[in-house]
Amino acid sequence: MAGKLIDGKAAAKEIREEIKKEVDEVKAQGVVPGLAVILVGDDPASHTYVRNKEKGCKEVGIHSEIYKYPAAISEAELLDKIRELNEDKRIHGILVQLPLPGHISESKVIDTISPEKDVDGFHPVNVGKMVIGKEGFLPCTPYGIMKLLEREQIDLQGKRAVVIGRSNIVGKPAGLLLLQRNATVTYCHSKTEDLSYHTKQADIIIAAVGKAKFLKAEDVKEGAVIVDVGMNRDENGKLCGDVDFESVREKASFITPVPGGVGPMTITMLLYNTVQSAKRMVKDRISN
Ligand code: NAP
Repeated sequence: MAGKLIDGKAAAKEIREEIKKEVDEVKAQGVVPGLAVILVGDDPASHTYVRNKEKGCKEVGIHSEIYKYPAAISEAELLDKIRELNEDKRIHGILVQLPLPGHISESKVIDTISPEKDVDGFHPVNVGKMVIGKEGFLPCTPYGIMKLLEREQIDLQGKRAVVIGRSNIVGKPAGLLLLQRNATVTYCHSKTEDLSYHTKQADIIIAAVGKAKFLKAEDVKEGAVIVDVGMNRDENGKLCGDVDFESVREKASFITPVPGGVGPMTITMLLYNTVQSAKRMVKDRISN
């Protein structure tokens, strides 16, 4: 029997409704949650992502400001803008759309964002908090994955989880969050020998590789939970994930589709983090 589809669109809609209520509560206390997004250069995909973030903010009532700069902007100028936004009381979340042009250091940019406004969860302070299980901002895509698994009441305790991919924004944090839920986690990457040996034993597989239809049915155990993070184009230019969806679905117990799985959750968790940041600031204001 084909695995159950995990409907990321429906989950995102539900969570956005809850976020909207939280936004209204914060507004009732005189604060409008605000997100600043910095976009450098003219990469069409980045422009689309930023437009979707702006749309998401509007939908839930978050104030958003988009700062667009030409690719030639100097690193110093960009860092100055971030410092200015760090001090801006109207802004509760700052996001710099990646990737950046080669002459700008991404790590310098991330390090300059105040950890209190780092709603992407990329700052080393927030990464460190995640590692030791302290409250901070969690990176949006892995956080969205955990919300999807939670919503389906998928038991992670003691389960074998395999994460394919070890990027700082998806693979690595996804594995850490699974570990926090007591899964037994294995990371696979481009240097992994006999990848299918690992995936065939997995109760849960997170595929974050960036290669169209990479994970095949023969690599998957009967009844596995499959989370497909990939966003690729297939041979016909159609959007597809890292999982060979049709065949893998036949063996899976649960599976996320692409599109409509993990994708809609990423921006939703960004909105969520922004409201939590605004709430934290309101709380601090009251207690000071
Ligand atoms: P990335 O930085 O390119 O990382 C890809 C990872 O896959 C790396 O760790 C790499 O290993 C590993 N890998 C590459 N080829 C492999 C192979 N043949 N066997 C095993 N592992 C292999 O990508 P990312 O940023 O994590 O993104 C992954 C995918 O998710 C992309 O398709 C991206 O578009 C998508 N994505 C989607 C969302 C969303 O909201 N839905 C958000 C972010 C990303 P090494 O470390 O050894 O190089």
